[in-house]
Amino acid sequence: MVSYPVEIRRCQHIKIGGTQCGSPALRGETFCYYHRQYRPLKVECYSDGEYATGEIVLPEFEDATSIQFVLRQVTQMLLQKRIERKTAGLILYALQIASSNLKRMEAEKPRPTQVVVDPETAAETPIGMTPWSASGKGHDPEEEIRADSEKKRTKEPTFSDWQREQERERDREGEEWRAQQRASLVRDPEACGSPAGGEATGNETGRGAGAP
Ligand SMILES: [Zn+2]
Repeated sequence: MVSYPVEIRRCQHIKIGGTQCGSPALRGETFCYYHRQYRPLKVECYSDGEYATGEIVLPEFEDATSIQFVLRQVTQMLLQKRIERKTAGLILYALQIASSNLKRMEAEKPRPTQVVVDPETAAETPIGMTPWSASGKGHDPEEEIRADSEKKRTKEPTFSDWQREQERERDREGEEWRAQQRASLVRDPEACGSPAGGEATGNETGRGAGAP
C-alpha cells in the first residue's frame, strides 16, 4: 500500500452516506479542490405563494446515496403540497441525469496524485505528469500508469479499492468461521446438539415438576 507524504492531508468532506472524500485536501486547507467550491446547500422552495414553503438540502450529487437523499425530500414535499408539481418534475429529471452520470463519474475518478493540492503551482506541472508525487518529490508519470490500469491499482490503491478489500476481508473471515464451525461439528457431532438437548430435558423436567 502506498503511503503519501504526511503534509498531504485528506479532504474532510463527509458524504451523505457517512464516508469521507478520498481526495487530498488543498495544502493547509480542510477540503479538496472540488469540495472547497461545492458545499451542501439549503435551498428554499416555493409553492404558489410568495413565501417559502420549506427548504431542500442539496448535497453534491456524488454518489447514489446523495441522489436518494434529495429524492426523498422532493417526494415528501410533493405529498405535502409544499412544492409545485412542475418544479418537482424538473428536479426529478435533474436527479435522473445525475443518476445516469454516476458511472461516468466513477470511471473518471482520479488517483490522489492527480488531484491538485497547490493550485498556485499548477503552471509548473509538466505535461504527462501528476501535479505532485506519492514519494513527496517531484511528479509521477501519468502515462505509465494509464497504460496499465491494473498495475495502477496495485501501485496506488484508491479509497474504493480499500473499501472493497475490507469487504473481501470480512467475507474471508466469515468463511473461515463457518469452516471452523463445520470442522468442530465433524469432530464432535454431539457438540451442538447435546447441551441444548440437556437443557431442553432440564426445562421439561422443571416444567414437569412445577406443573400441578
Ligand atoms: Zn473532497
